[in-house]
Amino acid sequence: MDLPVKSLMSSCITRFEILDRYLSDPDTAPSALTGEERAYFSDPRRRGNLPLRISPHFLSLMGPGKDDPLRKQAVPRIQELDATAHELSDPLGEDLYSPVPGLVHRYRDRVLLKMTDLCALNCRHCFRRSFTGGARGPLTEAQADGAAAYLADHPEVREVLLSGGDLFTLEDDVLFDRILRLRAAEDPGERRRIFRLCSRIPLVTPERITDALIRELVKTGPHWLVVQVNHPRELSSEAVAVLGRFIDAGIPVVSQAVLLRGVNDEEEVLEELFQGLVGLRIKPSYLFQGDLARGTRHFRVPLLRGLELMSRLEGRLSGLALPVYAVDLPGGGGKIRLTPERHEKDEEGLRYYRGFDGKLYGYPLEG
Ligand SMILES: *Cc1c(COP(=O)(O)O)cnc(C)c1O
Ligand code: SF4
Repeated sequence: MDLPVKSLMSSCITRFEILDRYLSDPDTAPSALTGEERAYFSDPRRRGNLPLRISPHFLSLMGPGKDDPLRKQAVPRIQELDATAHELSDPLGEDLYSPVPGLVHRYRDRVLLKMTDLCALNCRHCFRRSFTGGARGPLTEAQADGAAAYLADHPEVREVLLSGGDLFTLEDDVLFDRILRLRAAEDPGERRRIFRLCSRIPLVTPERITDALIRELVKTGPHWLVVQVNHPRELSSEAVAVLGRFIDAGIPVVSQAVLLRGVNDEEEVLEELFQGLVGLRIKPSYLFQGDLARGTRHFRVPLLRGLELMSRLEGRLSGLALPVYAVDLPGGGGKIRLTPERHEKDEEGLRYYRGFDGKLYGYPLEG
């Protein structure tokens, strides 16, 4: 019998005391809380910051030692509470492009819809951290209808990114109610829009993915699944099995990774990750330079280091395995490939790239 999502979600670790106890137990313990982690939890400024949330599966994948690449993504450190001058609460400028609540329309043929603000793992590097965390809840029926009306008026939109938060934290009945409301915006004579399911859940809470869920997805498609995978160790046997079920059911899977200091900023790690994904029939699509979200400086890799890593990987990986290195230009410049043609100049510690609107946007060279 499959568990409802709510009980899966309530099994996540959300309290410091529980995490402390788990990490301090010499039988299970990867390693007790470090000074930087403990300092975070005793700092009152953490109120209002992205809350702690770690799924039991992700916790079980953490290896020993305080420098574990999965632990760094999940356990907050004190550095999160220090914002730099370049960091922004809405680093992508999404609020500038939101014509109706929950929907972001920045590129002509595709929109992004925030289905909920809840996730099964609150990634400490999350760039949408001022939105995520679970205080708002699911997109309401009225908001879904509003988005559908907007889509009906915009036939040029060919892809809808169902994002968040994480859409698979929704119960099936809520998820499919919203999907069907969006599908109702389509003219029966027209090609159906592609819905892109953006989720980490197949990796962080694979038990959420049931046969019933996949069956309903197939009926309401076409869908593509886009997963975020940052380190090869996230590809647990459970996750691999779940990803294979999507693909076997006819839902293609692509992956994205965020370049993260101390997690995957080594050639060998990225090579293993991308080759591993291709072996699972998953195309690595993007490697993202970190966005300038508040309190994420300790994760960002200097641009020149990222470019160097990519050029070395180009010599080692096949076209299938190599993703595109890209950044969302801070302040609403859009997503661009970090290629030499887009690079305009370096000035006062910033590297300037030209956005699609023709304007220049600076990204700090040192992260
Ligand atoms: C990233 C993003 C997309 C999708 O862009 P792709 O390059 O097609 O992956 C669409 N809308 C918004 C607002 C985005 O941030
Ligand atoms: S799953 Fe995505 S939206 Fe959720 S916390 Fe992680 S990065 Fe942010």
